[in-house]
Amino acid sequence: MSVQLEAPAAVAELTRKLEEAGFETWAVGGAVRDALRGQGKADWDLATRARPEEVRRLFRRTVPIGIDHGTVGVFGRDGVLYEVTTFRRDVLPMGRKAIVSFSETLEEDLARRDFTINAIAWHPLRREIRDPFAGRRDLEQGLLKAVGTPSERFREDYLRVLRGLRFAGALDLEVEAATWEGLEAAVDGIEGLSPERVRDELSKVVAGPRPSAALGLYRRAGVFPRIDPALDPEDPGESFALVDAVPSHRPLVRLSAFFLMALNGEGRRDPDPVLTRLRFSNAEVRRISTLVAAGVPPSSLADGGPVERRRWMAAIERPFLRDVIRLWVASCRIGGTSHELGSRRALGAVRGDLSGGIPLSPRELPVGGADLMAMGVPGGPVMGELLNALLEAAWARPRPPDRTTMLGWIRNGVVIPD
Ligand code: ATP
Ligand code: MG
Repeated sequence: MSVQLEAPAAVAELTRKLEEAGFETWAVGGAVRDALRGQGKADWDLATRARPEEVRRLFRRTVPIGIDHGTVGVFGRDGVLYEVTTFRRDVLPMGRKAIVSFSETLEEDLARRDFTINAIAWHPLRREIRDPFAGRRDLEQGLLKAVGTPSERFREDYLRVLRGLRFAGALDLEVEAATWEGLEAAVDGIEGLSPERVRDELSKVVAGPRPSAALGLYRRAGVFPRIDPALDPEDPGESFALVDAVPSHRPLVRLSAFFLMALNGEGRRDPDPVLTRLRFSNAEVRRISTLVAAGVPPSSLADGGPVERRRWMAAIERPFLRDVIRLWVASCRIGGTSHELGSRRALGAVRGDLSGGIPLSPRELPVGGADLMAMGVPGGPVMGELLNALLEAAWARPRPPDRTTMLGWIRNGVVIPD
């Protein structure tokens, strides 16, 4: 049966070259699945009978992406790097390494894949479909089903628990009964996964169009405490709508929204240990922790005056302020609380402050130590106190005062540190 899918021309070209050299080659995995659902643009992966060294000999521009697993990256004519993977049987995890055994047949390669919807092959030249596990039917019926015996498949690789919940959430699939049973029975195994794999999986969940669906399934399956005991949302009614409400092109803000909702008492106070254990980079740990700590501003900020508001702003490092606001915007978007209106008003004021160029530290004032020195202020702590007092005085004004005004304040002794 011939099925027309929207695949890039470069995919057919790579296939032709491999087949002309005598190596059977198919498109497999996520791109085929998504194309069948009518959603293009995923990464097209190829599975081939050619061994990695043969793939590398055949193409001029290749990258050894995962040679241990049989994967070679090949640049298509469109400049895209396509993954070409040799047909495999199971990959047995051996601690940090894996033992791979290559296979001669597509059927074996499809059988080692995790879910039926991910085990569909499509031939880019003949447009033929190979679907030995009826993945297309499951896709049509909205079912997530493991290939083979679910309990065994999850035990082989516990990451499949997380992958399954991600696919079910993102593609709005119901988890077939036996698959759910096998999945739940394997949840404890998540503890043994490498933190990097869990981090990458979590990042993928959070990057999706509606992360709250998969995160809700995480909760139902009891995944969170297995990832880290500090990840156990206290309020079971609490939803992850906040994550959805952050634009998906802000992955770090989305992750922050996630941790803000998912961390329990202990972790909420100090998210660093969890983030570090999950091997987020130092820069990411700093950013996410700052956002989680700032959280969504307290309602008192809405009721307080400009000085209180600007003091709150000044307590957040400037490079993170925009992201804190993005998180706040998201929370206003889902809103519904009684202080929502006040919160929106305060948010508007904070944004106004930023575009109006409000100084948030003494260094950002239009006058500096040199000016004060010239006016006879002694150096040392007095100077620092005076600059801080100037900053607070500037905060009390609707708009940030200019240099002349500030110099006038000092000259006339308007600003006296307490
Ligand atoms: P997406 O890229 O949209 O997250 P995908 O299905 O392409 O989804 P990849 O991680 O890119 O997922 O993997 C490509 C294919 O490799 C999958 O479709 C699946 O067939 C197979 N696969 C990946 N990881 C596993 C795994 N842990 N166990 C079994 N098969 C897997
Ligand atoms: Mg993929």
